[in-house]
Amino acid sequence: MRSVTEKEIRTSFVNCTKGEATRLAVPRDLAERPWDDLDFLGWRDPASTERAYLVTESGDGLVGVALRAARPTGQRRQSMCSLCLTSHSGGGVSLMTARKAGRNGQQGNSVGSYVCSDLACSLYLRGKKPVGPGGRLNESLSLAEKVERTMSNLTGFLDRVTA
Ligand SMILES: [Zn+2]
Repeated sequence: MRSVTEKEIRTSFVNCTKGEATRLAVPRDLAERPWDDLDFLGWRDPASTERAYLVTESGDGLVGVALRAARPTGQRRQSMCSLCLTSHSGGGVSLMTARKAGRNGQQGNSVGSYVCSDLACSLYLRGKKPVGPGGRLNESLSLAEKVERTMSNLTGFLDRVTA
């Protein structure tokens, strides 16, 4: 994705109030992020174990969602990220819940998905971040096809947030 500024990030959130979007923790190292290798920007709030955020480009601009990561249950078994289909053990995948956008969210509705806890899906797909044994399926898909599948999974999740 193209590099984005803090201001763009703060105005991209679809499921936050303006106040929340103004206060939330945006990474301070935006200039050093590997934008060419990112399909979306995802990060955790260093001051809060629960808060996670994801921003991506969609047809008509940037779309950001605020997420709540469930506390790791301490399970050792592997679980799979529903976006990039990488498997991790030991809490490397978290159930992330997004409050729905607009009225639905105000009424307390949310949607959840299992996602890489560090939201580094793009780097796992590209082999830029190591994955444990059995973490990636042996597939004959090209990187472009894997990226396309990941983005289609992400779009599906964002559609559920905004539906
Ligand atoms: Zn992932």
